[in-house]
Amino acid sequence: MTATNHALSGALIGAFLALPVAIPVALVSHFVLDALPHYGINHNHHSIPSTYKTVVFSDTAIALALAVTAAIFHKWDMLIAGSVAYLPDVSVVSYYLRHGGDMDIKAENKFMKFHLGIQHEYPWGIIPELIVGATMFPIFIAQLLKS
Ligand SMILES: [Zn+2]
Repeated sequence: MTATNHALSGALIGAFLALPVAIPVALVSHFVLDALPHYGINHNHHSIPSTYKTVVFSDTAIALALAVTAAIFHKWDMLIAGSVAYLPDVSVVSYYLRHGGDMDIKAENKFMKFHLGIQHEYPWGIIPELIVGATMFPIFIAQLLKS
């Protein structure tokens, strides 16, 4: 799933569950969301379509904006759980950066093999991504504004 949806789900877990219980729940949420059909393209492509780059850039910007917003509102539990929910994708981003932008991510260990094995990515997966994000976003805002 997108970083935005991982961050939103983790932030909501952090809003509704106390730390430290929220941390393992947020981590598990990552794999539950990744197992749902979600956005992605055939990673064997050497030339990455501009649409994909736009989605990934926008997603990264939105996820970072959510993190900054949670910090501005001093919602540290939401920020921590949201970050934990995104954490498993650091291995994928790290691979991408270490291999000169190679989108054909290969599992380097058992964790990555498991993580890549549960993915169900399709171009039409943007639809479930938008539904999940649009459902969680108003709840995220409500929890931010809650004193
Ligand atoms: Zn993932």
